[in-house]
Amino acid sequence: MSSTTSVPDGPGSTELTGLAASELAAKIAAGEVSAVEVTRAHLDRIEAIEPAVHAFLHVDREAALDAARRADEQRANGTPASPLAGVPLALKDVLTTTDMPTTCGSRMLEGWTPPYDSTVAARLRDAGVVVLGKTNMDEFAMGSSTENSAFGPTRNPWDTDRIPGGSGGGSSAALAAFEAPLAIGTDTGGSIRQPAAVTGTVGVKPTYGGVSRYGLVAFSSSLDQAGPCGRTVLDAAMLHEVIAGHDPMDSTSVDAPVPKVTAAARDGADGDLRGVRVGVVREFGGEGYQQGVRDSFRTAVDTLTSLGAEVVEVSCPHFEYALGAYYLIAPSECSSNLARFDAMRYGLRVGDDGTRSTEEVMSLTREQGFGPEVKRRIMLGTYALSSGYYDAYYGQAQKVRTLITRDFEAAFGQVDVLVSPTTPTTAFRIGERVDDPMAMYRADLCTIPSNLAGNAAMSVPSGLSTEDGMPVGLQIMAPAMADDRLYRVGAAYEAARDAASEVSLLDRVPRLEVA
Ligand code: GLN
Repeated sequence: MSSTTSVPDGPGSTELTGLAASELAAKIAAGEVSAVEVTRAHLDRIEAIEPAVHAFLHVDREAALDAARRADEQRANGTPASPLAGVPLALKDVLTTTDMPTTCGSRMLEGWTPPYDSTVAARLRDAGVVVLGKTNMDEFAMGSSTENSAFGPTRNPWDTDRIPGGSGGGSSAALAAFEAPLAIGTDTGGSIRQPAAVTGTVGVKPTYGGVSRYGLVAFSSSLDQAGPCGRTVLDAAMLHEVIAGHDPMDSTSVDAPVPKVTAAARDGADGDLRGVRVGVVREFGGEGYQQGVRDSFRTAVDTLTSLGAEVVEVSCPHFEYALGAYYLIAPSECSSNLARFDAMRYGLRVGDDGTRSTEEVMSLTREQGFGPEVKRRIMLGTYALSSGYYDAYYGQAQKVRTLITRDFEAAFGQVDVLVSPTTPTTAFRIGERVDDPMAMYRADLCTIPSNLAGNAAMSVPSGLSTEDGMPVGLQIMAPAMADDRLYRVGAAYEAARDAASEVSLLDRVPRLEVA
C-alpha cells in the first residue's frame, strides 16, 4: 500500500524531507512536529542541493518561516487553516505573489514584484500552506525542458545531465530532489504532466476553469490551467482541493462544486477498479515512442486490468492533428497576450535616454527582454492571425480543436477514463533539442489534446525505462469536471505499482551530491 517515500541520504536531507505531504500534514496536526521544523528542514535541503539542481529562482527563508510560525499558532489555538496547514510548497514563477518577485523566467520581468496575489497564491496562504519560493520555468511557460529560462536551466535530479521537463521543470525537480513535498505548476500544452513524467512525480492538469487563472501570467488564455504537483496521488489531491473552486475574478472559472478528489484518492488506494472502463488511445504509443516507454505503458495497462478495470482500445482519429493545431492557437494567443510587455507600464525598459521615440524604446526592450523561443512564438502567432492567413491557419486550427473535443466526447461515451503514455520519450539530455524546435514540441504530443478540449488529465509515474533507467509517466484523462476519476484510477495504479516492486519508485532517485 505504501506510497510513503524516504529520501536517499544526501546533502541536507533528513527524515522530514523524505515524507509525503499527507504524512507531514498528519504529524503537524498531531503536534508531533512543528511547521517551523518541517519548513526549516526543507529550506536546509534547498540550500544544500540547489547548486546541483537549480529548481528555484527565488527562496524566501524568512517569509517561509513566518508562515510556518503562523500555521503553528493556528494549530495551537485549535484552528488549523486546512488539512495541509504548515506543509511547504514550491510555487511556479508564473503566478503572481506580492511578497516575492514574479519573473516568468524572463528578463522582461526580472525583479518585478506584482501588486496583487494570484488567487492560487492567496488560497495557499489562506490554507496555511508554506510557500518556500518560486520555481524556475521556460520563459513565459514556452518550452518542454526549462532550457528557455533566462536564468539558466534546471537539472533533473535523476540525472543532472538531463532536463527535468518544461515549462514547469523547477517545480518537478523540486519534488524529485526532495526540496519540497508539494508544488504548483501550470499546463498550457503539457507543462505540468510532461515534467511530472520525466521526474517520476505526479502532476495534474485540472479541468479548464477548475482552478482560477487570476494572477497566472497569460501565455495562451484558452489553454492555460494551474494545477497540483506532488510525489503521491493523495498529496496532489489534497493540494487540488486547496487551490480549486470558483473565483469571480476569472471569467472562465467554473461555478460548480470541486470534484471530491481527496476522497477519490483515498478510495482508489484500496486498489479495486472493478466496474471502471479504461480506454487505451490507439493513436498514442506506437511508432516514434521510445521502447522503454512502450514497455512501461503496456505493463501499466496490464496492472489496470489486474485491478479489475475493463480495458478496451479506443480510437481518437483527430488527436494526430493536435500538435499542429496547438502550435497555431497557442502562438496566436501569446502574440496578443505578450503585447502588454511594451516597456511603458511595468517590467523592463531599455534605451529610454531621452533621445529615442516610444516605438524605438518598445522595440529595443522587446528585442532584449524576450528570448528566442518567445520571439519565435510571437512571430508565428502574428503571422497566423494576419488578414489573408487567419482563415487558413488560425480558423482551421480552431476547427481541428472542435474535432478533437468531439473525439473525446465519443470516447467518454464508451469509457470512464482514457490512458496513454504521458510523453513519447524519457528525459532527454540538456542541449539535445535546443536547436530543433520540432523535436522539442513533440514532447507534448500526448498531453496537448486535453488542453485543446479542456478536460482533466494526470501523469502518474509508471516505473523506469529499461534502456536508460529514467522515469516514465502514465497519462490518465477524464471528462471535464470528472477530475475525481483521475485520482481514483491514479491512486489504485500507484498502490499496485508500489506493491509490485520491493522499493517504492522515489526510493530509487539517485543520491544527489553537490560538486
Ligand atoms: N511545451 C509546450 C509549449 O512549449 C507546453 C507549454 C506549457 O504547457 N506551458 O508550448
